[in-house]
Amino acid sequence: MKYEVLVIGGGGASYPGAFRLSKAGKTVIMADPKGVLGGNCLYQGCIPSKTIREMAELHLRSKRFFANISPNFELIQDHKDKVQEKRFKQHDEEIKENNVEFVKGEVQVTGDKTAKIIGEKEVDVEFNYLILGTGSEPFVPRIPGSEHCITSDDLYKYKTEIRKLPSSMVIIGGGYIALETATIFKALGTEVHVLVRSDKILRSIDQRLVEILKKMIDPEIDIKFNSPVLEVEKNGNELKVTFSQKGEKKEIITEKVVMATGRKPVLPKGFEKLGVKVSQKGVEVDESIRTNIPYVFAPGDVNGISPYFHSAVRQSLVASRNILTGRNTDFVNFSSIPVTVFTIPPIAYVGIITNRDSSVIEASYKFERDSRAQIYDELEGEVRLFFEKGSLRALGGWVAGIDAPSLINEIGYAVHNGLTAKQMAEFADQHPMSNESITNAVRSII
Ligand code: ADP
Repeated sequence: MKYEVLVIGGGGASYPGAFRLSKAGKTVIMADPKGVLGGNCLYQGCIPSKTIREMAELHLRSKRFFANISPNFELIQDHKDKVQEKRFKQHDEEIKENNVEFVKGEVQVTGDKTAKIIGEKEVDVEFNYLILGTGSEPFVPRIPGSEHCITSDDLYKYKTEIRKLPSSMVIIGGGYIALETATIFKALGTEVHVLVRSDKILRSIDQRLVEILKKMIDPEIDIKFNSPVLEVEKNGNELKVTFSQKGEKKEIITEKVVMATGRKPVLPKGFEKLGVKVSQKGVEVDESIRTNIPYVFAPGDVNGISPYFHSAVRQSLVASRNILTGRNTDFVNFSSIPVTVFTIPPIAYVGIITNRDSSVIEASYKFERDSRAQIYDELEGEVRLFFEKGSLRALGGWVAGIDAPSLINEIGYAVHNGLTAKQMAEFADQHPMSNESITNAVRSII
């Protein structure tokens, strides 16, 4: 069958573009072996992990004012599954509304403009354009006993078997998934150890912001730096994790070991037939999301540039627009895409967040002075903004602490649209909301 566009995968990199192309009259076929839209984000990533995270934060907040409560993890997991089901159903309706042909199956590339879908039915596809939205999967290093470990996918996936709160957990890794999982499960009552290979956590993030986070997270979370894992052994219901520290072998006995050692791009079988360039990070694309092969676009996690659902959505829409116009007319501004680490408490940043250059002016406001932070008694952290000297145009900002994932959007909007400090300061942020900290920070420099 001939289609104008083949979309591989059903995640955030895939369906927004597929829907837009179909609405514009293109014939579109999309396939994913999951048989549901939402990709890994909905099936085992952002949505389920953030459902559990919000419940864990609610638990912490409640505990502060209502003594003697304990979380019902089974109920939390049931709720998580229901949220996922609701969204799977919503996406089913969207497929019908948008008139896209969706097949439950895996795509294999068979030629430079041909592919085969193998699944609930077999379809031979000829296409003019390809959207490669195959995403990423956990990278599990070869450690003896790694088969006894789970990944975040196992913890959060739809209908996971893990329905009893683990009493203890060792998390291997120092990235955002490791830290998020550590703070979420600690808040629920699990004893948490984090084994970090190097001397840093969140290596890709400005360490000034990371230092603030380190002071904010629960000090009972045992983070061990420079502690590479050597082996994981199973003894009955327990796991023994052996790691090295300062040349000495050490052990921790635990119930679960979570490997959070990064993610790697997923490529379909036969991918090499396309001649698309791939680097260590993923499929190479520029801001137009086009690869070196002009009719192949690779939005989302598969290119490894900014592996977040909201970024994948924007990239998918850019790819579809460039397919529609037949040339590069839309581009992703990667520097205005906000990033949040959903730890408890969270941190978030957008744009340029360094003042190493003397052409940058910083403005900040501490949450200890913020009314909403006082209401919740969550006084740690701050809003920090970065402006271009002279023009006072917003270049970037960070938020550490209360409501960071929401507040970063307001800052991101200012950065994306090149707003000046004066324009930001003129906005009447609502009282008594933490957004006031943004305008309070801005007003401190004008
Ligand atoms: P993104 O956010 O970039 O969309 P995700 O990892 O959330 O990334 O989604 C990628 C989706 O692609 C997953 O649902 C996965 O099942 C699907 N996928 C991966 N490989 C194939 C393939 N060969 N054929 C069809 N779908 C695939």
